[in-house]
Amino acid sequence: MFTITKEVYFCYGHRLMNHPGKCRHLHGHSVKASISISHDQLNEQGMVCDFADIRDAVEVFVDQQLDHNFLLHKDDPIIPMLLAQNERFLALDEHPTAEVLSKMIFVYLKQQGFKVQQVVLWETSSASASYRES
Ligand SMILES: [Zn+2]
Repeated sequence: MFTITKEVYFCYGHRLMNHPGKCRHLHGHSVKASISISHDQLNEQGMVCDFADIRDAVEVFVDQQLDHNFLLHKDDPIIPMLLAQNERFLALDEHPTAEVLSKMIFVYLKQQGFKVQQVVLWETSSASASYRES
């Protein structure tokens, strides 16, 4: 089994409505996502796949959905205020945690045909969450 890992960086704001501490307040993160792709066999170029192909695919998703966006649970009461101010946000069915974001990236890349082994989202340099299906 061969595995390659590509890192991408982006920023977002969010808050976690049910969090008992400071994460319930509006705040932001500058994060790193590490995307690992695995294949049993290498392609005719001797690669799992081109790092640039992973970058291009994940950047489309990150730019459209996550980067410089405000990520909220769909029941967050601040949403009407953001709508009134014509502010950008993304309302999710789940709480916008690092765990949920790593799954969103995983699912998108899988839908694009990548054999994703794992997505790790580093919310700080010492704290990460990951998603994998096997
Ligand atoms: Zn946070």
